[in-house]
Amino acid sequence: MGVTPVFDAPTLIATKRDGHRLTDDAIDWLIDSYTRGQIAQEQMSALLMAIFLRGMDARETARWTAAMIASGERLDFADLRRNGRRLPTVDKHSTGGVGDKITLPLVAVVAACGAAVPQASGRGLGHTGGTLDKLESIAGFDPTLSTSRLRAQLVEVGAAIFAAGALAPADAKLYALRDITATVESLPLIASSVMSKKLAEGAAALVLDVKVGSGAFMKTADQARELAGLMVELGAAHGVPTRALLTDMNGPLGATAGNALEVAEALEVLAGGGPDDVVALTVTLATEMLALAGLDDVDPAATLSDGTAMDAFAAMVAAQGGDLRVPLPVAACSETITASRGGTMGEIDAMAVGMAAWRLGAGRSRPGERVQAGAGVRMHRRPGDPVSAGEPLFTLYTDTPERFGPARAELDGGYRVCDVTETPAAPRPLIIGAAP
Ligand code: URA
Repeated sequence: MGVTPVFDAPTLIATKRDGHRLTDDAIDWLIDSYTRGQIAQEQMSALLMAIFLRGMDARETARWTAAMIASGERLDFADLRRNGRRLPTVDKHSTGGVGDKITLPLVAVVAACGAAVPQASGRGLGHTGGTLDKLESIAGFDPTLSTSRLRAQLVEVGAAIFAAGALAPADAKLYALRDITATVESLPLIASSVMSKKLAEGAAALVLDVKVGSGAFMKTADQARELAGLMVELGAAHGVPTRALLTDMNGPLGATAGNALEVAEALEVLAGGGPDDVVALTVTLATEMLALAGLDDVDPAATLSDGTAMDAFAAMVAAQGGDLRVPLPVAACSETITASRGGTMGEIDAMAVGMAAWRLGAGRSRPGERVQAGAGVRMHRRPGDPVSAGEPLFTLYTDTPERFGPARAELDGGYRVCDVTETPAAPRPLIIGAAP
């Protein structure tokens, strides 16, 4: 007769602290007990830091992911039909960046092309923004959806962005704890966090946008490739075809970082305009998603110019109680940083902009803290643009003006106006690689 293993948190923390593996049973016990509130936050914080410092191998990560999926419900949309035809589902997830509002136009483009996107999303993590925080700056938008409403919305509208809620609840708790314990940038913790939510949400295929660079959690292409490989394998192991793109996050995406500012920019893209990099990444990711969904004969870019993606976005927002006719919130105070000399705008550091937006109130430093919808940074010049002395380079927005000083300090050194005689750095490619 097998003996049921008996575990306790201090011993397992010490196991990982001392660089040893956690067994399958220990991982199952840890995730289950933590989800049920039987492991204290202090203990899980210590374990996360031990994992952050010591890592987990592929087997531990796979078990950690499976245990997080098992902590909640797993959805299945294989039977969804529209007009008598099977409705293909596909989703994408980004590992987190600065100014990364791609999900908003992307789900609408893919829906307008005929696939359905069930997107379980999270809130901001560290210096990176969260899709739910962004969408909640739209008046009335509600990210909580019951499974029956979600299914109906996917058939009627083709897209839903919702709080993971009952999906991988262990991840929701761990995600919030990592955000405030400096334990985000860990390869096994990111891989298991992303994949537990994505596998539980029930999309039949997945595209991952693995960010690389100063504003990403993975700073080098090698780290990002390893993360991508691990997540693609986790997808395959759970029967979900998964493809990953590695994309540049040394500079912020688009011209804004901050919740309502980014929604406004996403609406520009949906109206057929918006910054080139946001449009290009949206169309590239949509192409990958549609290929996995078996819809190769559609043109995602056309949905941005013909208004069908905007219609899909408006329908999704309305289905979730949002009202796009209500103006987006604007912060009470703003301050502009101007160029002290003329020249050419050099590179803008994504981390500096992300941290500035976070200091202005776009992100959290305590669990459950309310984010400021209007807080953030607008960039008036892109790298390579000509700059005249005295011209605005950045506008900072917040409701709490004492935040301007710390935000300016974050931006300081995060950009440079180059002398006109300097040869500007070559623009970085947006897409760096792919896996598999
Ligand atoms: N996105 C997630 O869902 N989890 C992470 O850990 C990082 C990015």
